[in-house]
Amino acid sequence: MRTAQALPGPADTLANPACVVGPGQRCEHALVDQTLNQRLYEYEERVRGRFAVIVDTLKTLSAFQHEIDFVARAQRLAVDRLGFTLPEDLLNEAWVSGLDMRALHSYCIFRSFKECVDRAESDQAAWRERMAIDAGFLESCGYHTVDISPCADGRLQGLLPFVLRMAPNDSVSVKAYAGAMFDVEGDAADWMHRELDRLTGAIAGGDTANYLKVAVYHFSTSNPCHQGCAAHGSNDSKAVESALGRLNELRAAIDNTFGRGAAPEVLLIGVDTDVDAIRVHLPDANGEVNPYRYVDAGEVYKATLGMDSAAARAHLAGMVARAERADGWAEGEGSMREGMRRLVLRMLEANLSQIEYVIQHHAGRYAVIGHDEEFICAGEATNFVQLRNKYYYAHLDTVEEGAADMDVGIKIFTGLNIKHGLAVPVLVHFHYCSRVPGARERAVVRCKRVKAAIQARYPHLHAQGLLNCQMAVSDRRGSERCAFVEDDVEDAGH
Ligand SMILES: [Zn+2]
Repeated sequence: MRTAQALPGPADTLANPACVVGPGQRCEHALVDQTLNQRLYEYEERVRGRFAVIVDTLKTLSAFQHEIDFVARAQRLAVDRLGFTLPEDLLNEAWVSGLDMRALHSYCIFRSFKECVDRAESDQAAWRERMAIDAGFLESCGYHTVDISPCADGRLQGLLPFVLRMAPNDSVSVKAYAGAMFDVEGDAADWMHRELDRLTGAIAGGDTANYLKVAVYHFSTSNPCHQGCAAHGSNDSKAVESALGRLNELRAAIDNTFGRGAAPEVLLIGVDTDVDAIRVHLPDANGEVNPYRYVDAGEVYKATLGMDSAAARAHLAGMVARAERADGWAEGEGSMREGMRRLVLRMLEANLSQIEYVIQHHAGRYAVIGHDEEFICAGEATNFVQLRNKYYYAHLDTVEEGAADMDVGIKIFTGLNIKHGLAVPVLVHFHYCSRVPGARERAVVRCKRVKAAIQARYPHLHAQGLLNCQMAVSDRRGSERCAFVEDDVEDAGH
């Protein structure tokens, strides 16, 4: 059931920045989808619940590790509380040398994550069908593909279903990069791929539909100097300019290669990670985006709270139209395309539900505004589990080039885990495409190479058992998702 927040007093105003209401008012916006919020909350609780029980379960195990029927009891308890059994070899030796709690803890983190991946379909079914922005809606706006690059920051991992209320589907892809600094060449190749699919009829879109590239930067209103985007030194204007720079480079790359007018449409979005409110930068008639011309959903929420849904929608449309006519630094040339306007209005409206979600379930602002991840994912990110701060992501093809991201991750987990005597769990994950012969074997070889390089980079942690790597691969097209790979498995490539 929903628990609306009653009138906050002056002391609560700061803690709940999204909703400051007058006497007798409540933070209940007419355009918020309460049912969807409830379904997302159940999902969040279910996924977080799988991780939340780990520590207590291990403490219980530890208490009876020297008893005669330990292994059998431990397995019963694990199945009962965690939903899976524990590796026998870790349990069998307990009577001699004591339980290796670090190894068990990491194992449980990986297995719980795997559980979330395997159950993603059923876990997510309830909210997937109710999303404000689905493939049909995107098509009605004139887009056959939406390619989103957020920053790799864990706080943006719930971007699609929570912040944007967008249903994951084949026409939407998410690829995160530190600082939203996506790979222009890689994206131009993705664009070509999708356009080829459209031209050959492999995907819908006909002659008219377009490709939309979205870059998502982030900032923190309550602690702008420390909890903004680490990749840009928490410098907000640098985060905006850099993401916009990449979008313009991508457009130029495609226009210069395929002729003027070929370029995809682009959209720039900012997320205040304290409260999940978005800023949508409005393109002009030429598709140009400007750092100063945007509408903030937090402002929309405040301005339209208490209105009925028709009045709130009209007011929102008015705010967007006014922002488009802005002059000075924010000035653009003419109005955006109608399909783009439909999408922008729907995004801003859908985000009102997320703003209220944070008010209802996280007291208006996340209690942990910084890092709170369960593990490090190194290599290529998975998109199966969509929830804020699930893991810290270090994008890397080789450890040498991803070293800086990996070092930051180890530093974060020194505070989160090592300080408490726990190891750093590192999931080394790569994708392969089962249509390509030998691709899986090559992905496994890559995993092994990266795992070995990570262990070599942090030899002291590795030697003390404070670094636990688990390798995993996923098929881009097929059903194998985050399948664990062990060291002793022979690779076909060797
Ligand atoms: Zn960032």
